[in-house]
Amino acid sequence: AAAAVDPKDPQAVALGYVADTTKADKTKFPKHTPDQHCGNCQLFQGAANAEKAPCTLFQGKQVLNKAWCSAWTKKA
Ligand code: SF4
Repeated sequence: AAAAVDPKDPQAVALGYVADTTKADKTKFPKHTPDQHCGNCQLFQGAANAEKAPCTLFQGKQVLNKAWCSAWTKKA
């Protein structure tokens, strides 16, 4: 399986990616709420209950279900 995104990866840093949504930077991202996480994001390429899955933004990597980034978009 593909490796998980490293939160220190430059692209992850640029997007404010955190492995745990509760650790998101509230100052930089005032619209963040703790119920937002990869598992309920439109770009998450897995089942809603998958522990991790690919994300459209991170080629060849996986994001954690409980992670979050500033590109979060509510799943339709
Ligand atoms: Fe997670 Fe969505 Fe950001 Fe991808 S775009 S890292 S699925 S919050």
